[in-house]
Amino acid sequence: MTEEEDRHAAKMARRKAVQDAEVASKTVESKGLLLVHTGPGKGKTTAAFGLALRMLGTGGRVGVVQYIKGAWSTGERTAFAAFGERVQWHSMGEGFTWETQDLSRDRAAAARAWEVSAAMLADPTLDLVVLDELNIALRYDYLDPDTVIAALRGRREGLHVVVTGRNAKPAMIEAADLVTEMGAVKHHFAAGVRAQRGIEF
Ligand code: ATP
Ligand code: MG
Repeated sequence: MTEEEDRHAAKMARRKAVQDAEVASKTVESKGLLLVHTGPGKGKTTAAFGLALRMLGTGGRVGVVQYIKGAWSTGERTAFAAFGERVQWHSMGEGFTWETQDLSRDRAAAARAWEVSAAMLADPTLDLVVLDELNIALRYDYLDPDTVIAALRGRREGLHVVVTGRNAKPAMIEAADLVTEMGAVKHHFAAGVRAQRGIEF
């Protein structure tokens, strides 16, 4: 071996020792996680569906509840439909016109979406539940935060849950195992570019 190769081997051996010690220090083998994607940048919902795809790829089953209905969700909804009964999907706004701007109707739709969510949290056949834009429903006071947080905390052991939406409540962050804040560094909307098929919807 050359001197450079020697140095490299020694460096990698030290690195491996650190890595092995790091792995050995993690003693919790398996845990159902509460993951929160919040912040003003793009990618919260996309990242949640990325996890859904990963779960499906490992043979799991996924539940999705969308608290804010939008045409932009068509792409992923159509794609996930290809997984058949391995994906359960509920959109809160289904058959509902947002244009009415009717608070009591919005609340009723959110309550219905929460009912579906609670059933998913209790469903032993699901491995991952995506509660898309739940933070927004909480922010608008469509739902009681104490009820929601208590149910998330009391979720079935082993169940992973992803909650998305800007302005996650402090109680939601407190209850979570992982919180990622998407930062808005640059967005094409600011340059006047409309929502793009396959990127935004
Ligand atoms: P995505 O669904 O693309 O992952 P998101 O879930 O992070 O986005 P939301 O707050 O749910 O973001 O907003 C959804 C829509 O708003 C998307 O079409 C997205 O491109 C757009 N959007 C997200 N962040 C910004 C931003 N900082 N400025 C302008 N538009 C944004
Ligand atoms: Mg979103």
